[in-house]
Amino acid sequence: MTDAYTGYAPTLVALTLLVAVMASLAGFCLAPRVHVSQGLSHRLWWAGGSLVMGLGIWSTHFIGSRATSVMADLPRDLLPTLISLLFGVLTSALALAIVRTRRLSVCKLALGGSVMGAGIALMHYVGISALDNSGPTSYDPLLFMLSIVIAVSGSMGALWLSFRLRPEEGKKITLWKTCSGALVMGMVISGMVYTAIAAVEFPQQGAALQIGSTVPDRLAFTIAFVAIGIMLIVLMLSIYDAHLASSNARLAASLRKANFELKALVSCDPLTRLPNRLLLEERLDTLLARGGSGPGKEFAVFFVDLDRFKTINDSLGHHIGDELIQQVASRLKVAVRNSDMLARVGGDEFMIVSAENTDRASSATIAKRIVSSLSKAFQIDGNLIRITTSVGISRYPVDGADKHALMIHADAAMYIAKDAGRNTFKFFEPGMNTITEKRARLESRLRDAIDNDALSLAYQPKVNVVTGEITGVEALLRWHDAELGHVTPDEVIPVAEETGLILQIGEWVLKTACQQSMDWHAQGYPLLKMAVNLSAIQLNNRNFMEVVRRVLSQTQLPAHYLELELTESAIMQNPDRASMILRRLRKLGIALSIDDFGTGYSNLSQLKRFPISCLKIDRSFTSGVNSDAQDAAIVKAVVALAHSLNLEVVAEGIETQEQLAFIREIKGQQYQGYLCSKALSSEEFQAFLRERFPVNA
Ligand code: C2E
Ligand code: CA
Ligand code: CA
Repeated sequence: MTDAYTGYAPTLVALTLLVAVMASLAGFCLAPRVHVSQGLSHRLWWAGGSLVMGLGIWSTHFIGSRATSVMADLPRDLLPTLISLLFGVLTSALALAIVRTRRLSVCKLALGGSVMGAGIALMHYVGISALDNSGPTSYDPLLFMLSIVIAVSGSMGALWLSFRLRPEEGKKITLWKTCSGALVMGMVISGMVYTAIAAVEFPQQGAALQIGSTVPDRLAFTIAFVAIGIMLIVLMLSIYDAHLASSNARLAASLRKANFELKALVSCDPLTRLPNRLLLEERLDTLLARGGSGPGKEFAVFFVDLDRFKTINDSLGHHIGDELIQQVASRLKVAVRNSDMLARVGGDEFMIVSAENTDRASSATIAKRIVSSLSKAFQIDGNLIRITTSVGISRYPVDGADKHALMIHADAAMYIAKDAGRNTFKFFEPGMNTITEKRARLESRLRDAIDNDALSLAYQPKVNVVTGEITGVEALLRWHDAELGHVTPDEVIPVAEETGLILQIGEWVLKTACQQSMDWHAQGYPLLKMAVNLSAIQLNNRNFMEVVRRVLSQTQLPAHYLELELTESAIMQNPDRASMILRRLRKLGIALSIDDFGTGYSNLSQLKRFPISCLKIDRSFTSGVNSDAQDAAIVKAVVALAHSLNLEVVAEGIETQEQLAFIREIKGQQYQGYLCSKALSSEEFQAFLRERFPVNA
């Protein structure tokens, strides 16, 4: 089989090259596995990889030496052969250890390459020394040196290539690159092997040539196939592992991405894209973690709440409500400073954490800016919407040392701002807490009261100023709570409006009052016109007309025996819609009156637009008609104007004969007040009726 001319067996030479290429390929594929794996799997890849690569490199040497006619059939000593194999394995272990490191410095490359080169040379020359005592006697110094140089530079090349071929984030390694690298490396290794073989000089070289076997070299083939087989298996294992790792990495990456998106989702309000409560609380935590007090450590928490947002949402629909919230968010962004965090923490609630220059004066400036920027009309879908805003402010550390205290206190201050007439801001002050606690308690008791039918109505007559006849009756809400005692409507209604409970309560009032009127009538008294107070929230609720129709049909009260009392501000919140609803109510025959006239806009020319039949002059004016010239002048003017507009006038809160005389003089038609009767319970009012209409009783 040996080529008589060159002294090398071409099949074995080709096999050497193949094994060398395979060993290089195995090395390039194993290096990344060793590099990326951790713990036990790293140790396994390293140990297994070293063995396989070592076997591969050693096989090139072994097959190479069998390819020459000189060494082919020489018997070998086992121990040096094993030591030679050991050098191959150790060199591979070193190579794999080097490629595990993060960076390949020139120094590392030089040192690692030299040691590896030395290892390979040792493997080779120890392997050759294993050849029987007929082994080499001398070496050609030039070729010997050359073989060392090739071993060292080849090792360096291998190291450099395996760093180049290491898959890293954002770097794609093609199969083609790896295979070309392996081919070059295989040629270098084979070159080194054959140079080293050529460096060996045998004393009986001439004779050996003749020994040149003509039998196929079974041992060389066996070793080659075993090595190639093992390397193929390891190669496939490493490719499989790489695939697994990359799909794991993809999975981890998509998990990371999903996590990131989830985090963004849970910390961001989808409507306004503002941070939500979660993120705001995180910010507070961060600021609080700085701890301490003094300059630079202070910060302020603003609680911003739109007044009566529910009304807009109920009347114009959620679409407009959402749009309004978005526009509010944009205005707030402009009103706060870049360093402030603005978050949406509820339907119509926003919070701001401001950690820069947060003394009282600058906080007040920000709050003023917020209130005034939101008070300008919003243009949404052709609707001109006006809202007002209440802002509460708490400051760290004076108003609270922890997140919850600061948030609760800002909230408490906001409620105080609402109680102060809305459209304003308040700083937290000690004592506000108890007010808001009372309010929270009131809300929860009120819910119980609704569930347990604990609400009732009181009735106050309306009286003809001239004849003293009863012209009608007004239903007024009463609530006696076991814990809270008597709670006045002035306390209940704002809470009911804020929580939306007013819709339930209002419907109950309407139905109970209408039913009561019918019940008294059924007992033989004249049917009295029943007046019921309406909140803006009811008027603006989209189901309101339906509620009124249902109550009328359930109770059978004729519509013209029902009167609804509304304040000017309730109408003016959304005049276009109010005008439409009032027209529909009027069409049904229901009477409409303006309550507390004089305290609101008091714009009679505006009121002409609405189908109103009656004005009720607020008690604050009538109580002063005999003592205060201005009150008297106002009441006189209002009555005159009402007459010119063909409106009835009811004077509220008449307590004395003098007041009544004044009203009679200026031709007011009706009055209400303690002079005739305070608001009476259902039974008391029945007794009152019995007195007035003895014949019917
Ligand atoms: P309002 O509609 O102006 O009712 C008149 C209030 O003045 C009633 O107070 C009544 O008890 C009181 N009052 C009547 N005559 C006199 C008087 O001669 N002297 C004095 N000092 N007071 C008099 P009340 O019942 O506390 O109601 C307060 C307000 O609560 C009502 O003012 C009304 O705006 C609201 N309200 C009462 N019930 C309801 C209701 O069912 N629904 C709604 N939305 N609001 C209600
Ligand atoms: Ca009223
Ligand atoms: Ca009134």
